[in-house]
Amino acid sequence: MRVLLVEDNDDDALLIREALSETTIEIERAERLSTALEKLAEGELDAVLLDLSLPDSHGLDTIGRLRSATAVPPIVVLTGLNDEEAAVKAVERGAQDYLIKGQADGHLLVRSLRYAIQRQRAEETLKARNRELLVLRKISEAILGSLDLKLVLEQILRQAMSSGSFDLGNIRLLDSSGDTLEMAVVKGYRDPQNVLSHRSISRTMGAAQSSRFRDLLFKQPCMEEHVQACKGLRTMKKEGVESLVQVPVRAGGEVLGIIQLASRTPRKFRHEEVNLLETIGNQMGVSIQKAQLYEQTRDQAVELKKANKGKDEFLSVMSHELRTPLNVITGYAEMVRRGMFGEINPEQDMALGKLMGCSKDLLGMISRILQATSIEAEAIGLEKNEVALRCLLDDLKSVCIVPLDKDLNLHWDYPCEFPFMKTDGEKLKHILQNLINNAIKFTDKGRVTVSARHLPGVKRMEFRVADSGIGISQEMLPVIFEKFRQVDSSDTRAYGGVGLGLFIVKKFTEMLGGELSVSSELGKGSTFTVTLPIEV
Ligand code: ADP
Repeated sequence: MRVLLVEDNDDDALLIREALSETTIEIERAERLSTALEKLAEGELDAVLLDLSLPDSHGLDTIGRLRSATAVPPIVVLTGLNDEEAAVKAVERGAQDYLIKGQADGHLLVRSLRYAIQRQRAEETLKARNRELLVLRKISEAILGSLDLKLVLEQILRQAMSSGSFDLGNIRLLDSSGDTLEMAVVKGYRDPQNVLSHRSISRTMGAAQSSRFRDLLFKQPCMEEHVQACKGLRTMKKEGVESLVQVPVRAGGEVLGIIQLASRTPRKFRHEEVNLLETIGNQMGVSIQKAQLYEQTRDQAVELKKANKGKDEFLSVMSHELRTPLNVITGYAEMVRRGMFGEINPEQDMALGKLMGCSKDLLGMISRILQATSIEAEAIGLEKNEVALRCLLDDLKSVCIVPLDKDLNLHWDYPCEFPFMKTDGEKLKHILQNLINNAIKFTDKGRVTVSARHLPGVKRMEFRVADSGIGISQEMLPVIFEKFRQVDSSDTRAYGGVGLGLFIVKKFTEMLGGELSVSSELGKGSTFTVTLPIEV
C-alpha cells in the first residue's frame, strides 16, 4: 500500500513513519498541499494521511481542495485537534476517517487506512451501479415511449455515449439478407464522408472469411485501445479515434446488428463498462423487434382493411345485380297472378303466392346486405325531420303481423301524446321494425311487447321490444351485433336470416346519437332497449 503523508511537521512525520515501520505500508511525504496535489497527479497512491494545518492550507477546507484533484484516493485525516464536531464535518466533506495524533498507534492507522480504501471502493462501485441503472432506465423509457425505431435508436446511442463519455458512435443493423450492415444512426462524426451507409460483410471480407468474421463480430464485444496503431479501421482513424469498443445488438439469441462507440483520447475499457454496453445492446434488440412487430401489424391492418373493402364492394355490386332480375321475377309473377296473361287455376295461384313470398324475403336480404355495405362505406347520411312518433308507431302497428302458426300476443304500450322528435324517421322505423321482426321470429308462443316512453329529465325517448322467446346466452350477447353473426350458425338452422339486422340496428342507433342495449335469459326471452335523444 502506498500512502501519501501530507504533514509539514518533521517530528510528527517521523513519529508516523515509526508507527508504520513494522507494516508493509510505503510512505511518500508532502509538506504542503500544493506538493500533495502534484504527487496525486502522478497517480499510483492508495490513500492519503492528511494533516489539516499546512503552510498553504488550514482547516477543513484542506479536504475539499485536495478532493478537487482528479482520481483522489481515500483520505484519512490525522490531526492534533480533538474535536468531535470537526470530525463529523471532515467526514461530510469527503474524508473517510478522522484520527487524533498521539492517540493513533500503528495498528489503528493501518486498520483505518485499509477500511478507508475498501469503503471508497465500495462507494465507487455503488456510484457506478447507480449511473448504469440510470442509463438503463433512460433507455427503457425511450423504448417504452416511442414506436419510432430511428428515434429510439438515437436516444439509445446518446445514452450509451454519455454512459462512458464517448466522442462518437454508431448503430448498424443487418438487412434481411443478413450480409449487409446498414447504418441506422450516427453521432459525433466530424466528417459525414466517414459515415459508411452500407457495408457488405462478404464483399469486404471475402466469403470464406466473412462467416468467421460474423461470428467474431457478433458473439462478443470487441475492443481496440490503440486504433491509430492497428491495421484497418480506416474511417475511424480518419475521425481521429484512439479507442473503440463494439458490442452486438441481440434479441432472443439472434444478432440484429452492432453498436460502436469510440473515443478520440486513448482509454481503457473496464469490464463493467463493456458489460453495461452489452446490456444496452440486448435492450436495443428488444426494442428493434418491438418496432418491427408494430410495423408488421400496421401493414397487416392496412392489408386487412383493403381486403375488407374489396369484400364490401363485391357484396354491394352483387346485391345490386341480384336485385334487378329479382324485381323482374316478382313483377312478372304478380302480372301472371292477376290474370294478365290469361286465367289461372287455384293451384297456380298458390304456387305463385309462394314464389312471390320467397322473392320478397330474398329481396329483403339483399337490401340488408346493400344497406350494411353502405354503412361500412359511410355512404349513408342522416335525413333529419320532425317525426310524429304516435303516427310512426301506429304505422308500425298496422304492418307488424303475427304469423298464424304462432300462439303469440303482440302487445303495444305507448301513450297518446308524444313530444315531436327531430330525428331521421325512416331510420327509427327501420330500427323498431327489425327488433319487432326478430322478437316475433324468435318467439313461438307467449308475448311480444313494444313500448315507448318519454324521458323528459334526459330529453330522450326510450323504446323497448321485449319477448318471451328463446333468449340468448350471456356469452353470445356481445357478438349478436356484429356483421353476419348468429347465435345458431349450424347448417340446420331453425331460423332464417343472414345476421345483418342487429348490425344495421346498432349502426343506425349510433347515427341517431342513441344507445342500444339488450338483456336476455336463455329460454325466458329477451328485451332490446333503444334510447334516442329527442333532437339528434
Ligand atoms: P338475423 O337476420 O340472422 O336474425 P340479426 O342480426 O337480426 O340477424 O340477429 C343476430 C342473431 O341474434 C340472430 O341470429 C339470433 O341468434 C339473435 N337474436 C336476435 N334477436 C333475438 C331475439 N329477440 N331473441 C333471441 N335471439 C335473437
